[in-house]
Amino acid sequence: MTENQLLKIAQDFGSPVYVYDAEKIEGQYNRLTSAFKNVKNLKINYAVKALSNISILKLLHSLGSGIDTVSLQEVQLGLAAGFSPDQIIFTPNGVSLHEIEQAAKLGVKINIDNLSILEQFGTKHPEVPVCIRINPHVMAGGNANISVGHIDSKFGISIHQIPHILRIVENTKMTINGIHMHTGSDILDIEVFLYASEILFETAKQFKNLDFIDFGSGFKVPYKAGDIETNIEELGKKLSARFNDFCKEYGKELTLAFEPGKFLVSESGSFLAQVNAVKQTTSTVFAQIDSGFNHLIRPMFYGSHHDIVNISNPKGRERFYTVVGYICETDTFGNNRRINEISEGDVLCFKNAGAYCFSMASNYNSRFRPAEVLWYKNKAHLIRKRETFEDIIKNQVEVDFSIKKEKQLVK
Ligand SMILES: *Cc1c(COP(=O)(O)O)cnc(C)c1O
Repeated sequence: MTENQLLKIAQDFGSPVYVYDAEKIEGQYNRLTSAFKNVKNLKINYAVKALSNISILKLLHSLGSGIDTVSLQEVQLGLAAGFSPDQIIFTPNGVSLHEIEQAAKLGVKINIDNLSILEQFGTKHPEVPVCIRINPHVMAGGNANISVGHIDSKFGISIHQIPHILRIVENTKMTINGIHMHTGSDILDIEVFLYASEILFETAKQFKNLDFIDFGSGFKVPYKAGDIETNIEELGKKLSARFNDFCKEYGKELTLAFEPGKFLVSESGSFLAQVNAVKQTTSTVFAQIDSGFNHLIRPMFYGSHHDIVNISNPKGRERFYTVVGYICETDTFGNNRRINEISEGDVLCFKNAGAYCFSMASNYNSRFRPAEVLWYKNKAHLIRKRETFEDIIKNQVEVDFSIKKEKQLVK
């Protein structure tokens, strides 16, 4: 998409607004599938939590993707978007047995990452096959909060507990149809990924009825110039060969599954916001935009970097700015950023705004959540309306305090 096309969308749909480029999503999907073209049965399950708009889900469905879900509501969204239950895998953490049973009732694939739940589920529903999430204890992940493979992680069943899993399976007569790992977001190193995969293969040998091995995700995408990104092509070459060998050894053509979120949608997204005011202080120049961490929380929450570009003045002289939001507490999008000269009213574009941006937006400060637009085949499609005051107040219930007052008066 060009900067002019983005600017036109901000003018037509208002600000702030999220814009997603369908072509980029399709490009990433095709990159991944071609990297693994030598694997006979490949399944990409898009991680819905990254960006859960129903039109994005439908787009991925049209490309042949399945979905990875972490809540019953995501399962329901997936079904509403047209995915069949067998194209959906439910990979929750810390949810109730009841929620897992509800998902199973809808017919989706179940992934369990807790021995207690595994035992209870297997006892009650031995006829429902389940996948188990293994924690291989391999460190990956760029941020302590999204690194999920370490020994004290709440995710997965430890590889040291395999004997316990086997005992539960034997006692309940349940079937394990898949082995899964998700070692955390932001895997830099292919060798680390391959090392973790070996642990998964070793584990897989202990289960005789597998249909698939799910290698999770954590693929890294560049957020700024010079960032390292996962070399998907090289990973594809190496892991495909190893996987095919393993299938021979196992004696069955298994399915190789992945569940990327960020990799598929991060770079497709642009967040557009207008500059309300430029404010000089003794130490910096602030550009204050008509948004805040209520709409894009990653910089404040994870310390993430999003490139910021002034699309209203792309040729302007570069100056240093601190870009901040309107939330009534520290709300910084970027410090000391070199940006083409900003005037009040200019539209700034935040890059990599596809994954974990709108899906983490809130109504904090009682602000409306932004509109979302999908750029598809050279046309802008509104895929979510901007909220209105109706949305802010609709579930709030007012207590009538006047009654109490009257009683007090009588007394
Ligand atoms: C969040 C999540 C993903 C997606 O991770 P990305 O870093 O966005 O690719 C995949 N699998 C599970 C189980 C997850 O929780």
